[in-house]
Amino acid sequence: MLLAAAGFVMLAGNPADAAAGCRVDYTVNQWSTGFTGNVTITNLGSAINGWTLQFDYAGNQQITQSWNSTYTQSGQHVTLRDAGYNAAVATNASVTAGFNATYSGGNAAPTAFTLNGVACTGATTPTTSPTTTPTTAPTTTPPTGDPWNPPAQYVTPLANTWKHQEDTYGDLYGFRNYLFDQVMAANGSINYCVRWESTATVTATLRDQIQTALQRQFQKWVDQLNENGTGWNNWPYKQIPVKVVGWAVRDRSQLQWSDSSVDIYVNDLNEGAPQCSPPCGRFFHQDGNYSGCPGGAAHHYDMSLWLTDGMTGGAGGDWGQRIGKEYYVGALSSENIHILLHEIGHSWGLNDFYDFDPLPSEGFVMKAGSATQITVFDKWMLRDFWRHLKNRYGL
Ligand SMILES: [Zn+2]
Repeated sequence: MLLAAAGFVMLAGNPADAAAGCRVDYTVNQWSTGFTGNVTITNLGSAINGWTLQFDYAGNQQITQSWNSTYTQSGQHVTLRDAGYNAAVATNASVTAGFNATYSGGNAAPTAFTLNGVACTGATTPTTSPTTTPTTAPTTTPPTGDPWNPPAQYVTPLANTWKHQEDTYGDLYGFRNYLFDQVMAANGSINYCVRWESTATVTATLRDQIQTALQRQFQKWVDQLNENGTGWNNWPYKQIPVKVVGWAVRDRSQLQWSDSSVDIYVNDLNEGAPQCSPPCGRFFHQDGNYSGCPGGAAHHYDMSLWLTDGMTGGAGGDWGQRIGKEYYVGALSSENIHILLHEIGHSWGLNDFYDFDPLPSEGFVMKAGSATQITVFDKWMLRDFWRHLKNRYGL
C-alpha cells in the first residue's frame, strides 16, 4: 500500500485560472476490523485557502481519528476539513490527510468526492471564463548521455510506468522528500525512529536485531543503484548506514535496557501510536532545521519504522514504513522481508500497481503480492527515478 508523498502541502503550479477542479486518490490499509485511510487531494483549479472534502461510505465505516485534517461524520457522510496549517493549496498542488476507522463486513471505497462543494472528477470546471491558456505539467528530461539501458523487454513497461507516475502523482517533479532527497541531505546515511505500537516488551537483543534486519533490507535497494561496485549513473553511495537513533513506546518499562544507545520517547502519541519527537523528525522539518530537537541534528531521524500489533500488509511513504510487528519480528532472519522491501520502495518514490500493470507476465516487489524479493524490473524502476531526479543534486 502506498501512502504516497505524504508531505503536508506540496507547492507547485500556476495560480489563478478561475476554475475549480480536483482529483482525490483514496487508499486504505485494512485489517479485519479497521483500516487506515489516506486521501491525497490534488487541486486542479484555482489556488484555494481552506478546503472541505466530503464523501459517503456505503458500509458501516466509522472514522475514529484523523490527521492533517479535522473530521465529522454523520451516518455514512464524512466531512474532512483542513487542519489550518495545510489550508492553502496552490493550483496543481496536493495535500494529504489520513484517518483511522473501524468497519465490519465490506470496506468499499467511496465512489464520489467533493472539494469545497465541487465534484472531484479529475477535470476542471470553469467558475468564470478562463483568461489564461492552460499550461501543461512541468516535465524534466534526463540529460543527454543518460545511460538508460534496461533489458529490452522492460523499455516499454518502464516508459509506461513513468508516464503513469506523471499522470497520477500530485507533484512528481517538485516533491522534495523522496528517500533520494533524504539520503542526499544526510550525506549517505539514514537515521530511523522505531514506533513500537505494541504491548510487547523489547530486549536489547531484539532491539539490535531490528536494526540489523532493517539495515540489510534497506541495503538491498541501495544495491540496485550500483553495478559492479560502481554507482550507476553517478549514484554516489555503495553502502548506506542505517542507524536506529530513537524508540517510541507507550511505557518505558517495555524497553528492557538501561543503556543510552538510543533516544527514548514515552507516550507521545500521534495517529494513536507512539512517535519520536516531531522536532527531531525529517518529515516535520524538511528544511533540515532540527534546532528544536533535544540533542540537536545528530539525534534527528529521517524515517520511522512503525511496527503495529496485529497488522497485515503495510504502508510506506516519505515518512517511513509501517508493517505488522509480529510479521517483522518473525521475519528478522529472513533473507527478504518482502513487505518491508515493498514499503521502502514507496519511500524511494515508487508507486503501487493496483490500478495499472505494466508487466502482466511477471511479478515484482512493488506489485504487491507478486514477488518476494526485489526484481530486475524493480531495479530499473528505481534507476528511472534516480535519472530523473539526479540533476537536482548537481549530478
Ligand atoms: Zn504499496
